[in-house]
Amino acid sequence: MEMMVRRIEEVRERIRYARKKGKVIGFVPTMGYLHKGHISLIRRAKEECDFVVVSIFVNPTQFGPSEDYNRYPRDIERDKKILQDEKVDLLFVPEVSEIYPEGYKTFVNVEKYSEILEGKFRPGHFRGVCTIVLKLLNIVQPDKSYFGWKDAQQLIIIKKMVEDLNIPVEIVGCETIREDDGLACSSRNVYLNREQREKALCLYKALKRIEEMIKKENVNDCEKLIAEGEKVIKKEGGVELQYLEIVRISDLLPVEKIEKDVIVLGAIKIGDVRLIDNLRIE
Ligand code: AMP
Repeated sequence: MEMMVRRIEEVRERIRYARKKGKVIGFVPTMGYLHKGHISLIRRAKEECDFVVVSIFVNPTQFGPSEDYNRYPRDIERDKKILQDEKVDLLFVPEVSEIYPEGYKTFVNVEKYSEILEGKFRPGHFRGVCTIVLKLLNIVQPDKSYFGWKDAQQLIIIKKMVEDLNIPVEIVGCETIREDDGLACSSRNVYLNREQREKALCLYKALKRIEEMIKKENVNDCEKLIAEGEKVIKKEGGVELQYLEIVRISDLLPVEKIEKDVIVLGAIKIGDVRLIDNLRIE
């Protein structure tokens, strides 16, 4: 049977059939151009569920007007081959008009959480993310849905939306997958030329330096920790630091002293390329 479908109605029909057979449905939403990070989510879903659905949709409503929607990397044929090898049961690749038909009006927003950190630099981004994720969850109606810690704020916001709106799904957070040198895998890494690729590592280095100060040097003053992290990034040169903050995992609020379950989040820009990363300190 064809694994790739483009219409919502086809997804519903295939899910109805799987459900009738008593299958546990797992769902991994993506924007495609798949890499090791996506594959780790898919493998986790395959381990825990009987019927795994992956979606590929570059969601226009989560990109700002000056962002990279048009040049975002796309290669459906390559992705499809990867997903066939992973034995994914269903691939949903809708057209934009299938998701946002003319006259579309409804958006979902998790207040406060969406306005800080990434939200400050990408206004409206999480409104677009929450809207597409809620729509996809309503279309697929999975038992479990898998998201990466790579996009930590997104994961925390989606968990909050699911709780607040009583959506009957379990959200599973999966560890960040990195290249050998530590750079977090991302579809956007293809934008980097060789020199930028080397510079890109400075964010991870800053996060690791902060972790080392907390764990080995017992520093718990966040101002001091951030100042040291900023130094690591400034030393690199040619890198714009957009933010580097330490917040609580539970509600994304900033902390002055290190406490239980915090996360260090950062974003940098190298030329036109914007990269994010984070480390949890649990
Ligand atoms: P994207 O296609 O970038 O929207 O990502 C789809 C899903 O894969 C999201 O839940 C991301 O958090 C997750 N993801 C992206 N990169 C990684 C990574 N390096 N490690 C783990 N998960 C990732």
